[in-house]
Amino acid sequence: MNEATLILIKPDGLKKSLTGNILTRLSETKLEIVAAKIVRVSRSLAEEHYKHLKDKPFFEELIKYIQGELHNRRKVMALIYWGEGAIKKCRELAGATNPEEAEPTSIRGAYGRITTSGVYENVIHVSSDPQEAEREIKLWFQPDEIIVNLYPTKEIVEKESKIRVWA
Ligand code: UDP
Ligand code: MG
Repeated sequence: MNEATLILIKPDGLKKSLTGNILTRLSETKLEIVAAKIVRVSRSLAEEHYKHLKDKPFFEELIKYIQGELHNRRKVMALIYWGEGAIKKCRELAGATNPEEAEPTSIRGAYGRITTSGVYENVIHVSSDPQEAEREIKLWFQPDEIIVNLYPTKEIVEKESKIRVWA
């Protein structure tokens, strides 16, 4: 069954110029990229994304990490991969959360590190299961930014909303 997963190339991955490398590794999965963008991560997006870790001692540092404050790179690359077994395939390529425990040939095993503050800088995020994938994808993307219909949508008329257009 086709499923979708959110992938984030985290600020350390961008700083280490690993984008091409990571996308090449992910292309081994033969999954389809159905959305992609560069995002400046707000504090509220970061907190919502990692809300399951709110009570952990490393939470504050983790928020700084995903916002790019530890790497002076205030952006992440967000993508959605879609296809058969997408989550399992991408998580296998990513490797274990702790880069020291990850397969040395996995993305995190090859490029991740543990900082002196204890945060795992592991280069890439992959959704952990279909429920999390749906929650995360809806957090990071609007329906029209995705080229397939992943989840039910509705149309609304927005009155007096201000948007920016090209001058
Ligand atoms: N993390 C950490 N220390 C831990 C657990 C997690 O620094 O003991 C960080 C790490 O960057 C990880 C992120 O928090 O990728 C989210 O944690 P999660 O348990 O969801 O792991 P993941 O799904 O990313 O493998
Ligand atoms: Mg997770």
